[in-house]
Amino acid sequence: MNVKNCRKCGRMFNYIAGPPICPACREQIEKKFEEVKEFVRKNKTATMNEIAENCDVEKRQIEQWVREERLIFAEGSPIKLYCETCGAPILTGRYCEKCKKDQASTFGAAGRQPEAPAPLGGGNKRGGSGNKMHTFHE
Ligand SMILES: [Zn+2]
Ligand SMILES: [Zn+2]
Repeated sequence: MNVKNCRKCGRMFNYIAGPPICPACREQIEKKFEEVKEFVRKNKTATMNEIAENCDVEKRQIEQWVREERLIFAEGSPIKLYCETCGAPILTGRYCEKCKKDQASTFGAAGRQPEAPAPLGGGNKRGGSGNKMHTFHE
């Protein structure tokens, strides 16, 4: 039997897989996630601070959900995420679609598909209004 201390509450629990968090805390986090997801859906222009405050959740936790691609921000959200590889603006995760594809072919990492995020209806952004942010400062 594999027993670990919960990373959140410190209690011992039977560890199975994933992050070392006990079932009680995990359930709480899931509830929180639903709350945050709902909040983000209703408040498309909420900032990270507003989400954290309104839902009483750590920003770090929100960022983790984003990296896991569970939480997706709307177009027009003030929260700006950028591809860690090429700096393109993205709405969730860590990399843009293009870099994800590149990585998939580079590492041959097949079969890792976490709850596919809804595809953003076929491709290119139409009309380039706004969104002219660049990541390099010079
Ligand atoms: Zn716990
Ligand atoms: Zn990229």
